[in-house]
Amino acid sequence: MAINPYFADMPCGINDPYESGEVSKFAELQRGLVPISNSSPSIALIQAFLDSYRLLYCGLPEIQRIDYPPNLTMGALFDLVVSAKYAERLIADAGWTYCEGSETSDGSSLYFCYLQTCPRCSVNRSVKPKVVSNKPGSDTIGEICGDTTCEILSEIIKVTSPGIKIGKNRDRQADVDFVIYQPNMLALGETKSSPLVIYPLEVKLNHPLTEIREGQRTLKRDHTQATVDVAEADIFMYIPHRNLRISLGKASSQQFPYHALIQHIQSPQNLAEIILAWKELYRVYEANLLRDLADPRKWITCGCGGGVDDSKNKPGIDRTDDIKKGTYQSLKFGTYYKERDSRRIIRSVLASNFFPLRTFNRYLSEMVDVIWTKEKYSRTFYLKTQRNPTPRKYSLFAQSDLFYLYDAIICFTESVYMDERLKEVTSLDTYINRICQ
Ligand SMILES: [Zn+2]
Repeated sequence: MAINPYFADMPCGINDPYESGEVSKFAELQRGLVPISNSSPSIALIQAFLDSYRLLYCGLPEIQRIDYPPNLTMGALFDLVVSAKYAERLIADAGWTYCEGSETSDGSSLYFCYLQTCPRCSVNRSVKPKVVSNKPGSDTIGEICGDTTCEILSEIIKVTSPGIKIGKNRDRQADVDFVIYQPNMLALGETKSSPLVIYPLEVKLNHPLTEIREGQRTLKRDHTQATVDVAEADIFMYIPHRNLRISLGKASSQQFPYHALIQHIQSPQNLAEIILAWKELYRVYEANLLRDLADPRKWITCGCGGGVDDSKNKPGIDRTDDIKKGTYQSLKFGTYYKERDSRRIIRSVLASNFFPLRTFNRYLSEMVDVIWTKEKYSRTFYLKTQRNPTPRKYSLFAQSDLFYLYDAIICFTESVYMDERLKEVTSLDTYINRICQ
């Protein structure tokens, strides 16, 4: 496969005059890179969201900005984009659930669910009827979440560091998921993203549905399966804990659902509602870390357990398996790539949408400042002092032969940086300073 000309200048790649000693390994990586499409509908959605956020955030007095923190805003953005991609890819005539809407004031509806319960009844009435879930397989989820992470990162670094390049690896089996580089810095990235919430879809009905049972016409049983002609029906994205609906139009409309979402969020007031709604769920998730609370709002969040969603689907890297895999990958970037470049310009990055709130203390906090090296880099010497006349053995390592396990753990909701340069080019602090200038 030929190298995309955009990535011809990748450090350590085929055109780098420096001999990295392992050209084929880097060339293989370079050949797999594809640019983040500038014309995809999801990029247009991200750009519209960030433009509207700039108007909202920078227009507020300092004291009110605290309601719309950039880190939680990026978390909300990620879930909105992933929800849009689910809607685009998965919406079908079959797979809907009928909810009669008894005990609610807003009538009967049909829901296209991604978890195994009715979003309206679980969140608002604390009952959890079993319903059909349209959640895709883990490969599809991984692909959508990996792409969305790169797309958002790409829009952030366009602002924080315009000269920098980002590319994702089209080879999903490869070591490296994405790269970020500029002259004299090549960051290798592993993504481990997964949403906090996927907003279900809704079609509103004018009246309760009926069916024939034992020769009698009767009301259709609540929470049974239904079909919808999605090319004709008006579809909404439904945010149950706020009783919020975003009109998406018909599934057959141009650029469904992106066009309608972009129209909606162009209003900073509408955007503010979406950020606040997400922030509310983030707080519910955070509160549940200490003690599993009975708060029914958790039934719309991924990985909530209780027969609604498997607890291994916790958001971001908040799953021990992901931390273990991500850590191995970061170490591999060190031993198979960083070490091979004696200029020491390679960095390893673990990237996710969601900081591991739940597992950080138990699995990560004592790891983030780990530095490793190898015996082969040591020089031995003996030193005796007046207080210790017997010579003691020391190992001496050059600074450049010490490596961070992670140079950065970049999550939209919170990041940890060991490497200052990566912080400068990717952090949300830099981003906010630039957009409100
Ligand atoms: Zn229901």
